[in-house]
Amino acid sequence: MRPIRRRAFCQGSAALTTLFPLAIGAQPPAPRVVASFSILADMAQELVPAGVQVTALVGPDSDAHVYEPSPADGKRLAQADLVLVNGLGFEGWIERMVKVSGYRGPVAVASQGIQPRSGGHHDGDPHAWQDLALARRYSANISAAIAQRWPGQRDEIARRNADYVARIDLLDVRVRQWLGAVPRAQRRVITSHDAFGYFGVAYGVDFLAPQGWNTHSEPSAAAVARLIRQIRKDEARAIFVENISDPRLVERIAREGGARVGGTLYSDALSKPGGPAATYLQMFEHNARSLAAALQV
Ligand code: ZN
Repeated sequence: MRPIRRRAFCQGSAALTTLFPLAIGAQPPAPRVVASFSILADMAQELVPAGVQVTALVGPDSDAHVYEPSPADGKRLAQADLVLVNGLGFEGWIERMVKVSGYRGPVAVASQGIQPRSGGHHDGDPHAWQDLALARRYSANISAAIAQRWPGQRDEIARRNADYVARIDLLDVRVRQWLGAVPRAQRRVITSHDAFGYFGVAYGVDFLAPQGWNTHSEPSAAAVARLIRQIRKDEARAIFVENISDPRLVERIAREGGARVGGTLYSDALSKPGGPAATYLQMFEHNARSLAAALQV
């Protein structure tokens, strides 16, 4: 059945080309980069040459851990010129999705070369974008993949990478200043899931969470009870909900511990445009400023 239908389609489009050669030739589709989630899409947006479109499969305020691809997403993937993923096991669904969609182009891994944090029985912590020093590596990897795909724009891509890395480095210095102003013993924070391990190591903050490196399974009652005890003993100074998670569990932990939720951290997704974390750098600044403000009290 299939080859016959395809032949019929080709004949049809050949006829159209004969009838409307200019209309079809005049508007080639813009080259497309499809990134697995919003943070990666924003980084790519900073680095692609002019005229390249970037979209994300998992959009703002959405949880990539539990994402289920739709047929429309598969179609979008099939039409991509380059696919970008985080790697480190973050997008458990991507391999199958690529296979099913029929996409045959390159799949670039933004975290390539980064040694993941390890611990417990997990494979490794995928949230490496939560350290600005590692974001430099993301920028270099994404730039290399884009330059390989569009070699004619190599110089423009290299310029964009240098500019972006300079902004990343500048923010890194400021984040160290903000958090450095908080006594080390006060830097203990509760969030929904364990997404800030890299942030914690880089900037000297201890994060406690009822959920682990992914959000697939419910947190255990013991983990929740332990956090409540820690708040009561004043072992955690600030409690944050996350933009990708149902806030009710963290709100309950705060209530039962006799504390208040200090705000929202952006862990695995940006905010919607116009929100406080609409780009990766805005997200990082928002998180660092919110943490420093809450911990200083
Ligand atoms: Zn996560």
